[in-house]
Amino acid sequence: MVLVYAEATNGEFKKVAQEAVVYGRKTAEVLGTECHAVVLGDHAGAEALGKFGATKVHRISGEPLKNFDAAVYTVALSEAAKQLGATVIILPHNSTGKNITGRLAARLEAGSVTGANAVPEMKDGYFTVTKPVFSGKAFAHVQLLTDVKVISLAGNSIPVTETGGEAAVSDLSIDLPQPKTRVVKHQVASGRVPLPEAELVVSGGRGLKGPENWSVIEDLAEALGATTACSRPVADSDWRPHHEHVGQTGVAIRPNLYIAAGISGAIQHLAGVNNSKTIVVVNKDPEAPFFKAADYGVVGDLFEVLPRLTEAVKKY
Ligand code: FAD
Repeated sequence: MVLVYAEATNGEFKKVAQEAVVYGRKTAEVLGTECHAVVLGDHAGAEALGKFGATKVHRISGEPLKNFDAAVYTVALSEAAKQLGATVIILPHNSTGKNITGRLAARLEAGSVTGANAVPEMKDGYFTVTKPVFSGKAFAHVQLLTDVKVISLAGNSIPVTETGGEAAVSDLSIDLPQPKTRVVKHQVASGRVPLPEAELVVSGGRGLKGPENWSVIEDLAEALGATTACSRPVADSDWRPHHEHVGQTGVAIRPNLYIAAGISGAIQHLAGVNNSKTIVVVNKDPEAPFFKAADYGVVGDLFEVLPRLTEAVKKY
């Protein structure tokens, strides 16, 4: 059986959970088995995960799960996998998945692949998972040789499709340890979709000249419902917070649309954004390297182009 960790954010099963369940369903089809989901905590609407392909949802509740604690979550998921006899465990490759995929694999003595971006295949009799490597310039096809396998799925890798109806939800009893950490306060940095999950991103570079000019990026992002990002020197100069920095040493993203304004397109920047489905570049220098990676390019002054783009978007 394939077991998917369906993560709830603020009590809701958002896109990362839906993608993971769809991926789990497709993996289960490859193996000729069922896809179940596991949820940690008492979240409303778990039965709706059936729409994405989970035939059953197992709910684990308890005070130690109230806030994320890597040790507690790892115990909950590994014990669930053992009790249910899961052979493949799937998590999202977001901050939670990055934190616990390795721990989970160690506890289950499982082979693991992090950041997979394609549905596993049986190749030459081996369960084979594909993931991008070298900043997306190549792909590794990894055979998992263990009985139990753990995979984390890169965001925006698989379209969310609905197939089934509601899943049956039942409680699973697991002895949970006490957390080793305590969350003192949650502080919301922005109401926007987090960068790794964002489908639309508007990003600015040193061409913006200073933080006081960021409203042209914010306005376009607001009109599109997009998340904002920036190049590394912009974050290094404290024009924007570091969590917005994309690239080799920042967040790697794969949105449907990436609009880059005043960014030259250095290889280290491209490393984090070149998996975007459509790239639009606005730069006043026609020789800027970013144009080579762009699907659409505007040679022009961003201070003229972006406000016009924002006005055009607002009309629709
Ligand atoms: P610049 O290179 O200064 O480019 C500014 C661009 O704005 C120019 O192309 C210019 O023509 C254009 N411009 C100026 N004014 C206007 C205007 N009015 N209208 C339109 N266009 C205008 N960088 C990252 O972004 N992410 C990373 O993760 C990262 N990791 C790195 C890791 C290492 C080990 C190293 C060595 C470097 C890394 N860098 C990273 C830095 C990277 O090499 C570049 O220096 C950086 O991406 C350049 O940022 P930029 O494009 O904003 O600035």
